Amino acid sequence: MDARPRILTGDRPTGKLHLGHYVGSLANRVKLQDQYECFFIIADLHTLTTRPEKEAIATITDNAREMVLDYLASGIDPEKSTVYLQSAVPEIYELNLFFEMLVTVPRLQRLPSLKDMARSANLGEMPFGLLGYPILQSGDILMPRANLVPVGKDNEAHVELTREIARRFNYLYGEVFPVPEALVGDVPTLVGTDGKAKMSKSLNNTIYLSDDRKTVERKVRGMYTDPNRVRADIPGTVEGNPVFIYHQVFNPRKEEVQQLSERYRAGTVGDVEVKERLAQALNEFLDPIRERREVFAREKGLVDRIIFEGTMRVREEARETLGAVRKAMGLSGIWNSIRRKAEKTAPAGSSGATGAAGSA
Ligand code: ATP
Ligand code: MG
Repeated sequence: MDARPRILTGDRPTGKLHLGHYVGSLANRVKLQDQYECFFIIADLHTLTTRPEKEAIATITDNAREMVLDYLASGIDPEKSTVYLQSAVPEIYELNLFFEMLVTVPRLQRLPSLKDMARSANLGEMPFGLLGYPILQSGDILMPRANLVPVGKDNEAHVELTREIARRFNYLYGEVFPVPEALVGDVPTLVGTDGKAKMSKSLNNTIYLSDDRKTVERKVRGMYTDPNRVRADIPGTVEGNPVFIYHQVFNPRKEEVQQLSERYRAGTVGDVEVKERLAQALNEFLDPIRERREVFAREKGLVDRIIFEGTMRVREEARETLGAVRKAMGLSGIWNSIRRKAEKTAPAGSSGATGAAGSA
């Protein structure tokens, strides 16, 4: 038995992972994978909440493979961590159903994250399943009975809801679940290259972990910066400027960042130079990730084996948790009682509890 506390977190397989995913959650996963027993879920069912169409579902398999390559490239070690596919573990949706009984609709309607998701998916009205998104997420988190959940800021409120569900379940039925804590990354929400509040695929303002050097240079050249600064000799604003935010996060040369900031404020450095230095820093940050990605991508079937083995392992875990859940709720008692009585009262000589049924 592994005595370490547990981590559960994951991502929707909607494409490749970007710098926002890295600073929000991935960096913490990599850092904590020795201290914690880690479970990383490929949350494919969650993609259905905004994209239930068959064409969207058809993209999940390849997206999941790319995403797991991004995990490996970022330093997640499959020997230490368990990566698995949500839709292949039906017990998660069974938990989802039980948890739905413990949450009110107004509680869910107050979550700003859901309104944001509905808006960015161009959904006029809220689908029932999207309203239930954080409940399914609670199922994800509590199934392996996780203690810690490394997530970006936008998911913090969902972990809070999970805590409420765990407490309510334990209160009604007895202690089954730990009350997990959220761990938000060093950068709670990474701004997009366009200056919009969140780097996000759907906003097309991302830098992917797998982008090549030239692509990074091009994206950085096009980045949103101080719009009032039409010439290099006009004093510029550093605070809230995405170019400088990225410098602060990704450029390890603190002295250089300090000097660039001072010169920017004084109007003695051009945007071109500031951006060239940023592209340089980002590429140095991404180079080892790209190299590892290439090595792992060459190993045929590696990613599929990791997901397969992880999922088989988690299925065992899920059976155990759901056994404990049904027992605590008294649900298993209903079936056991009916089955026992049916067996005890079956006519003599019959093969099964229902007598004639099944006999030739
Ligand atoms: P995208 O909008 O690009 O599809 P997402 O938010 O839909 O990204 P999820 O799969 O829902 O991605 O989230 C995966 C994890 O990454 C979550 O913990 C989320 O909070 C975090 N995350 C995503 N984008 C950012 C960001 N820009 N800054 C910080 N964390 C982020
Ligand atoms: Mg996503």
